[in-house]
Amino acid sequence: MKNKLNKIDFLAKCAVCENSLDPANITLLEEKEQKTTMHISCSKCNSSVLVFLSNSQAGTLSIGVATDLDRSEVRAKVDGATISADEIIDLYQFVAEEKGDLRQLLK
Ligand SMILES: [Zn+2]
Repeated sequence: MKNKLNKIDFLAKCAVCENSLDPANITLLEEKEQKTTMHISCSKCNSSVLVFLSNSQAGTLSIGVATDLDRSEVRAKVDGATISADEIIDLYQFVAEEKGDLRQLLK
């Protein structure tokens, strides 16, 4: 568990208020060999972020997306396969590569 948390240190900032995110607020949703999906809530402003980590030959890609869903809702979506984490990651990788700042797109 420790390694995992270290891995996300570099992105552990709230997208909304830039508060440092507490690892205790991280909910790991799905972990595969090369892809990790987690939900992080900010203790300061209560916003939630979905974070996707993808390991590739180019290194670790991390994408944070603000979300209205709380951790249980997100888990229900992932577990219920309404949309798979893989699909989300593919989408956001595409957006990140093509458009740059995803947060701008979501506003
Ligand atoms: Zn915040």
